[in-house]
Amino acid sequence: MNGNAPIYFIRTYGCQANTADSGYISDILNRNNFIELELPNELSVSTEEGCGEKELLTYALEHSNIFIINSCCVRQKSEDKVYGIGKIVKDLKQKNKHIPLIILTGCMVGSTKGERKRIDAKELEGKTDWVDIYLDHESVAMLPELIKSKGLYSGMLNVKNPSGKNKRSHSYINISTGCDNFCSYCVVPYSRGKEVSRDEREIINEIVKLTKDGVTDFTLCGQNVNSWGLNYDEKFKIRAGSSEHVPFVDLLKKIHSIPEVKKIDFISSNPFDFTIDLVKTLGMPKISNYLHIAVQSGSNEILKKMNRRHTVKDFLSLISEIKKIRPDMELGTDIIVGFPGETEKQFMETVDLFKKIKFNVAFISKYSPRKGTFAYKNYPDDVPREEKSRRLSYLTKIWKDSL
Ligand code: SF4
Repeated sequence: MNGNAPIYFIRTYGCQANTADSGYISDILNRNNFIELELPNELSVSTEEGCGEKELLTYALEHSNIFIINSCCVRQKSEDKVYGIGKIVKDLKQKNKHIPLIILTGCMVGSTKGERKRIDAKELEGKTDWVDIYLDHESVAMLPELIKSKGLYSGMLNVKNPSGKNKRSHSYINISTGCDNFCSYCVVPYSRGKEVSRDEREIINEIVKLTKDGVTDFTLCGQNVNSWGLNYDEKFKIRAGSSEHVPFVDLLKKIHSIPEVKKIDFISSNPFDFTIDLVKTLGMPKISNYLHIAVQSGSNEILKKMNRRHTVKDFLSLISEIKKIRPDMELGTDIIVGFPGETEKQFMETVDLFKKIKFNVAFISKYSPRKGTFAYKNYPDDVPREEKSRRLSYLTKIWKDSL
């Protein structure tokens, strides 16, 4: 362990939003003089799916003071990974090894809260009795205090980082939480609750404060950043490529005008509320040349069943507008294959989309029914597992060939 400063480790499962949230948690801990665990080279290449995951988790449990799991519940497999950590913890306990303070956050915890909750907190606690703190999204900013309240590291939280090692040039800024879109397959509106935009002054103050610590690059995070600042009724009137004005554009311009800010990124965007004035802001010099914009399917029928509010045509014309403003813009997207009722023809429409648009990054996943969602209740999961796997491999090959 490193002198006085507590060492933390975060294992992140799931989507870009979780990656962003982990970055945010990391920033908060770094600002409070916690130090991120340095992994040996052979373990730092481990991926969520790849080999070495158990070795990585075991090493991190044995060498950190605070072990954070940022969970995902988009698929059952994602939840099972968390339960798998419990087995490693129990094994280490039996061997009388060091066990850190264990914190569970992310969508599994969010699913137990609020009026949209999907599962009972007691049920989750029963399955994860090795967890010390269940941290919901709203309480992330309080994390150092929560750790302190557990009687650990009191008096250390204001100690100056002895190595100064956590000085970074990049920071994640959460600008909104939750989602009201209710795409039919998605648990996020349940696990992360209602969409709430953070106050503009608070966001700007946080950024200005961070620039004083040397941070120059910012990633603005939210489930659907484009609808930041819009009320519930307003956001459902906005359409892809329309000339409507979105407040997110004003926020981007304000952040852009801060002299110390050098680079701005934002995740995640959806096509349905990507307006032309937002497209135009992509031309501002500090805006990053990578844009993540989830299309999910290349079939209009499937998009409709998914309750997405855009068509393939909307998406194609939006990308064409974006490329006019920023020809160097690299694109990332999310795709689900094997959605209920997806025919071969509909799947091939997604393949066609990949032939028309070059995606530099593509997260392609097989549909997995999630309890509580509209699709779970209304659409039988009728694409056989082997067929989903075949579609995933086929589309992945088409995508890789396009790079
Ligand atoms: S926009 Fe759709 S896919 Fe994205 S978080 Fe909201 S409900 Fe889920």
